Amino acid sequence: MAKQENGNGRRAAKLWTCKAGHILGMIQWNGASVPQLLLFRNGVDHGADMPEEVDVLGPVIGWMPVRCDLCGEICLWDIQAKTFAWLSERLGQRRLDEFLMKIGKMSAEDFQIKYSNGDIK
Ligand SMILES: [Zn+2]
Repeated sequence: MAKQENGNGRRAAKLWTCKAGHILGMIQWNGASVPQLLLFRNGVDHGADMPEEVDVLGPVIGWMPVRCDLCGEICLWDIQAKTFAWLSERLGQRRLDEFLMKIGKMSAEDFQIKYSNGDIK
């Protein structure tokens, strides 16, 4: 897929559709080139004109299965490695360490030692 850029040097928004072509949202890239899905409350039929106003539920940055309300297909908004890295940069050190412990990159013992003054949940 060709990388399209708008005048700001950022990639232009792209429609996100189900297999039937119903428009479920728009993909935008933030300043760090991390994709985020502006998820529409309702799908838009590809044959119809795009409504002037679309109710956006919000930006989805992580991972989310989305059901098309027009055809029922479950579409997966999947997380990319760069998104994952971007999100992990926004975690506090403790939550990042909790994550590292859960994926086995930090031992539970090391975590206990580092956070022995606080409650571990
Ligand atoms: Zn659909």
